[in-house]
Amino acid sequence: MFNKKTVRDIDAQGKRVLVRVDFNVPLAEGQVSDDTRIRAAIPTIEHLRAQRATVILCSHLGRPKGEVRPEFSLHPVSQSLAALLNTSIGFAEDCIGPIAEAASSAAQPGEILLLENTRFHPGEQDNDPEMARQLATLADIFVNDAFGTAHRAHASTEGVAHLLPAVAGLLMEKEIRYLGEAVAAPEHPFIAILGGAKISGKINVIHNLLDKADKVLVGGGMANTFIKAQGHYVGESLVEDNSLETARQLLEKDAARLSLPTDIVIADDFTAEAKSQIIPVGDVPEGWRIMDIGPQTVAAYTEELQGAGTVVWNGPMGVFEFPAFAEGTNQLAQAIAESGAITIVGGGESVAAIRQAGLAEQITHISTGGGAALEMLEGKTLPGLAALLDK
Ligand code: ADP
Ligand code: MG
Repeated sequence: MFNKKTVRDIDAQGKRVLVRVDFNVPLAEGQVSDDTRIRAAIPTIEHLRAQRATVILCSHLGRPKGEVRPEFSLHPVSQSLAALLNTSIGFAEDCIGPIAEAASSAAQPGEILLLENTRFHPGEQDNDPEMARQLATLADIFVNDAFGTAHRAHASTEGVAHLLPAVAGLLMEKEIRYLGEAVAAPEHPFIAILGGAKISGKINVIHNLLDKADKVLVGGGMANTFIKAQGHYVGESLVEDNSLETARQLLEKDAARLSLPTDIVIADDFTAEAKSQIIPVGDVPEGWRIMDIGPQTVAAYTEELQGAGTVVWNGPMGVFEFPAFAEGTNQLAQAIAESGAITIVGGGESVAAIRQAGLAEQITHISTGGGAALEMLEGKTLPGLAALLDK
């Protein structure tokens, strides 16, 4: 199923290896505030270091839009990585050109060099062949371990992969194995749980999962548009009116496999302190809004999870950031963790919710990539993966 060469298939002994990692981490006051993505890159870095390769890391961070913007410097990441690996990390203030070339030729086998933000150059997002060529001059081998950016064809993810022997890193392999296999060859019953704010960005995911999964359980803001499409009044709920027609079509075509909330938690304001009520779907009073799925829905969805083979979850069931509206998300997270199925969680807020609930250890695979994970669930081929050498 995973048909790409990986770092395990190559001899990197004494070679200079350019590794595209996903160090797009949140910063607060000039420091890394969540190092999950840095930790996720360590197995590949350690694998190469054990082979005494010269490890040259590159990544983007944030959206500097092709300009040098010091607040998006990867320098704080080099400090965080140095602490995690308990070793010194070289840092080059540019990812291409004379500074990068000098730093990469000076780096010795077994050493690690981190290059500055690839998005300080406009050529990165333009997938400029000249930028790719300059990146390629830095190394003998290219490794793509940046799953979180693999859905983008950029110079450091796709362009450069055509110019050097290019293989997948261990994180990339793991992500593709879980997300790819979940969709292509799931253990049945295969249950998908979809929520989050909006339906519009996830319509292709719904389509694909309705084809592949035995059941798709819908919650969160996404459910509101379906509920309105069923003909119910939804008050001030977050709804996407321009997706109503799509929602109607999905309901007509796939009603048997698509489960929607039967009861909901509503609020008289979009705040943590708002008044709340549990009501059956369809009776939202004027001025109120849907904030979470209700206990009857939680029970029904939990029942669907009994005996599941594979469970994929993307998108919280409610506004879980407010404790009063986090019940649906937390209880379903618990049910997923206890299901005994192969469980896969992807999406920025979904992952935050599973961690907040203290259940991360009980999940088979937590994806590090939001957009890339969604594209995998859509059944798309990721350009950063496609460009790598086949087995
Ligand atoms: P993910 O990052 O896991 O893919 P999304 O970004 O699609 O998820 O959506 C997450 C957001 O959806 C959360 O911030 C949550 O507050 C919001 N949300 C969930 N249910 C509702 C709702 N009923 N009304 C408004 N927002 C909601
Ligand atoms: Mg999100």
